[in-house]
Amino acid sequence: MAAECENEDRGVLCGVQALGRCPNPECHVQGGAAFCSSHVERRHGRRRDWCLRCSRAADRWLLEIEEAKDRARDRIRALAHALVAAGAGPDEQYFHATTTELIGFLKFFGVWKYRTRDNPDGHRYGWYIGTYDWYLEEPIRDARFDSGGISQHITFYHTFVTQGGDIAPQGGRRGRLAGLDLYDRSLTTRTRDFLDTGAAEMSRLAQARGVEIE
Ligand SMILES: [Zn+2]
Ligand SMILES: [Zn+2]
Repeated sequence: MAAECENEDRGVLCGVQALGRCPNPECHVQGGAAFCSSHVERRHGRRRDWCLRCSRAADRWLLEIEEAKDRARDRIRALAHALVAAGAGPDEQYFHATTTELIGFLKFFGVWKYRTRDNPDGHRYGWYIGTYDWYLEEPIRDARFDSGGISQHITFYHTFVTQGGDIAPQGGRRGRLAGLDLYDRSLTTRTRDFLDTGAAEMSRLAQARGVEIE
């Protein structure tokens, strides 16, 4: 049974002999549009080829997510700058800096003695935007094998927008929000939703301090 291509060019049905059917359950043709060799998009990483129309719609959808993420990031940065300019923070400490200095050798115990002091220049401040789960990168050492590595586990952390408009966890350690990829182009709606939440939280915070941007 030779089906004919059910894709259209400027409203005209293609009609060329089809090679396959679109597997997208949301295809504009129920059961999947038949497609010819020029109305299919072959993709690496996607298990099966979609008809051109579905493929273009998927591209548009992904592009919209990326645009929404960019808008939210820009808004967070703009609000951070406006707040700084208005002298409205950042005023919540998310990182408390200390320095450790050697003060001497304890002969009796045979150990070096250190003293830890606050280092106010190194403290970091932000605006609190909520608590989220993070993968923090923590160096670990295994004394038995004299080896080390990076531990990653999910932990809820107070989360802040920094003076420069970045997102940072309490403690200022390196890490990333679990399941999200804030700084790379990744195609997740979760990242968009998080950034939208962050932008809304910053807007609310700015408004409460009498700072408005467009
Ligand atoms: Zn389709
Ligand atoms: Zn066709």
